[in-house]
Amino acid sequence: MTAANVESVLIGGEWVPAARGTYPIVDPSTEEVAGAAPEASVEQVRAAARAARDAFEQGPWPRMSGAERGALLAKAAEAFRREMSTLVDVTIAETGALRGVAESQQVGAVPLRLLKYAEMAVRSPDDEVLPRPMPGGAGLACGLATREPVGVVACITPFNFPMTNCAGKIGPALACGNTVVVKPAPVDPLGVAALCRIVGEVLPPGVVNFVNGVGPEIGEALVDSPDVDMVSFTGSTTVGTRIQAACAPRLKRTLLELGGKSAQIVFADADLAKALRGAMQPWTFHSGQICIAGTRLLVEQSIYDEFTSRMAAAAKELRVGDPRTAGVVVGPLVSRAHRDRVEGCIARGRDEGAVVACGGKRPAHLPRGFYVEPTLFTGATNAMEIAREEVFGPVVTAIPFRDEDEAIALANDSDYGLYGYVWTGDTPRGLRVARALRTGTVQVNSGSGMNPDAPFGGYKLSGIGRDGGAYALTAYSELKYIGWTA
Ligand code: NAD
Repeated sequence: MTAANVESVLIGGEWVPAARGTYPIVDPSTEEVAGAAPEASVEQVRAAARAARDAFEQGPWPRMSGAERGALLAKAAEAFRREMSTLVDVTIAETGALRGVAESQQVGAVPLRLLKYAEMAVRSPDDEVLPRPMPGGAGLACGLATREPVGVVACITPFNFPMTNCAGKIGPALACGNTVVVKPAPVDPLGVAALCRIVGEVLPPGVVNFVNGVGPEIGEALVDSPDVDMVSFTGSTTVGTRIQAACAPRLKRTLLELGGKSAQIVFADADLAKALRGAMQPWTFHSGQICIAGTRLLVEQSIYDEFTSRMAAAAKELRVGDPRTAGVVVGPLVSRAHRDRVEGCIARGRDEGAVVACGGKRPAHLPRGFYVEPTLFTGATNAMEIAREEVFGPVVTAIPFRDEDEAIALANDSDYGLYGYVWTGDTPRGLRVARALRTGTVQVNSGSGMNPDAPFGGYKLSGIGRDGGAYALTAYSELKYIGWTA
């Protein structure tokens, strides 16, 4: 097994050959085979969940002190660092990420996340609850609230930031004393396999398990396993709602981080150069394959034509191409199937009557690779599909607004509620609008700038629950009250 050729799955501390062999991983920038990934059977998925259950019920991990768990997680982070340069190449080859993105936000983010939760593992799980006098002078009700692990956590991750997302799940889950079964997206699972191998070698057997396969039956079997207590899922709203339904009969806990169609609100008094850079982020950051992309660009009427013209002109300056080439800012989409999906969204946007102000096609100079030009739709309404459905590609839809109230109403007229951006020279207005938006995060006069200590999650169809920073410890633990009288 090498980082680029993974034939096995990790069950109870052993790498066992995948029952259904392997399938090829395709480099989205060249369309050439970049590696091989394991195709597990449903029985292997169930066995992995059982192994995680055994490790939870009989193994040392949940019974260790937080300090002991933290020390092992820190050791795993160090072990990961030693393999980072190989993993950057694997990540570029399987995800199509630009080198800078692969180095910092993909591979480089992993040890930072593991270390953060290694430090948090050390914190006491106990919270004092203030004593209260009991009625009739019967004494004081005293007690403490303590956090305990939920049990076996299924960690199901999406294709866009595979390792980062996985580290953001297993970090807090393991810090709390849970055991995990990881299932990455089938299109780019190699980095996640390496992460599970590295962490699995440091932790007791069965604490980290890894399964993989192309079809939905792999994820479904994991969600349905009676050995799984919680599903931590990041991915599309369509699959998230399915998982929520599958978890309902046994009331399994879910943490759902789902899709978005976030508003990017630009007022006429904003620093327009900065706002322009922010508005272009769905093009320049991982080709728009980011859940928090501000793809609904709401621009004050008085500057709408000027702002969208500047944006369309700026798009022509963006270099689209091979992610390994210096100066390239827009790489490929992850797969042929995903490019087909994005092109379908663009075609339907045109059919609905929105105007393609720039892009809309495959770049003529790139005959190979799954590229789409940075695309801007103008003349759109918020009722059109291109303004309502997540595209998950380099596609922005611009809509004009008259005033603050209309900007807020348009932004909130969405099934999603993940993120929002406000650009204005009037700081009180920035805060007022941020409070009015029904989304999990709002950035005022700044791009995504994700704060690793901030809570992260969505309103409405963008998800249930919060992770991020110390908030994740709540997501991955049960809260128990132990009371006594004095
Ligand atoms: P997806 O929903 O197609 O797949 C996500 C994962 O679910 C994959 O591992 C997939 O194999 C698995 N899966 C598919 N069907 C399943 C089923 N029936 N049961 C269990 N698991 C199943 O998503 P994707 O295309 O990999 O990723 C893109 C989506 O992820 C976008 O919608 C994006 O917004 C979302 N996303 C959200 C966040 C966030 O934090 N909110 C972050 C990144 C990506």
